Amino acid sequence: MLLDQDLSIPPDLEFSSIRVGSLYSETYSNWINSRYHASMSYLARSERVMKSNDTSLLMQNSKSIIVFLLNYRRKNSFREGYGRIATYASFGDYHKFFPRLIDKFMTENKLFVSNFKTYVDTGPLLERGLAKNSSLGWVGKNSMLINSAMGSFTFIGAAVTDLCIDNFSPSSSDLCGKCTKCIESCPTGAINLDRTLNSNLCISYHTIENRGIIPMEVSARMDDMIFGCDICNNVCPWNAGKRDSSLVEVRQESYPPKMKLEDIAFIDKESFNEIYRGSAIKRATHEGFARNALIALYNSGQKELVREVARHFTDLRRDQALLLLDDQSR
Ligand code: SF4
Ligand code: SF4
Repeated sequence: MLLDQDLSIPPDLEFSSIRVGSLYSETYSNWINSRYHASMSYLARSERVMKSNDTSLLMQNSKSIIVFLLNYRRKNSFREGYGRIATYASFGDYHKFFPRLIDKFMTENKLFVSNFKTYVDTGPLLERGLAKNSSLGWVGKNSMLINSAMGSFTFIGAAVTDLCIDNFSPSSSDLCGKCTKCIESCPTGAINLDRTLNSNLCISYHTIENRGIIPMEVSARMDDMIFGCDICNNVCPWNAGKRDSSLVEVRQESYPPKMKLEDIAFIDKESFNEIYRGSAIKRATHEGFARNALIALYNSGQKELVREVARHFTDLRRDQALLLLDDQSR
């Protein structure tokens, strides 16, 4: 309970609160020091780390943070030859609608807040740490925030406020127990036994954030995954039998329009920007997304198409194609 008043709570939204202050995370520091953030150097910038460790620096006169979890579970269907994308990218970009939902919630409920600042992946917030410390769930061995009622197909957002909230609950217990399904199921061995996730080996990282060549040790295990990877979510028992999201933005027809792998591999920048406008897929960039499709083509044995790409382009696609064609082990 946040405040003693009736709140208008959208379906599939859970929230809790936490006072601003120290959120120093030894796990995060060790993760950075181990260079598991791969090429995402912005995650290690000192100013960012400072604000992550002390949330009172995020906004002047801030007193508390309201942390939100939004259920985005939905059926994510695939057709052979089109490539697999992570569930969260199969509808419109949540960075657009989730902040609007938070702002609406804050405004409609008139929480006596004179000032608030909304974050959805937009600042130096350690969202999972905040959600964990405000009792919304625990961070599983797969590094995902797991809520016992909604599972881990959730987005995390936050509103830093000048509202003083006294009532907040203790951290949730870790309910992974002896389960190791995510560790065993990860195709690249990216999840360590000490439950750190090595982005250098993670298919999600490479298909979305890597702006260069994807090493063979990862590309050989990507199968037809062209944007993200849901494997360590899908195998988690805490996701079994959970309800689908009723949010209209999530339920609407699969977005963006599906394209065949060969069309993606040959796509030009203008078409990419036009077709994937408003989609989380744009994060992968034009060349990165085409590179991913190229790898999926190679993994399905279509080497002639990969040769054609190597002849046709001079960008990242060519470098990736040459690496694939040079591989003698397959
Ligand atoms: S997203 Fe995929 S590759 Fe990355 S840790 Fe999970 S299962 Fe492994
Ligand atoms: S699969 Fe098992 S170990 Fe992994 S996050 Fe889920 S409950 Fe935890």
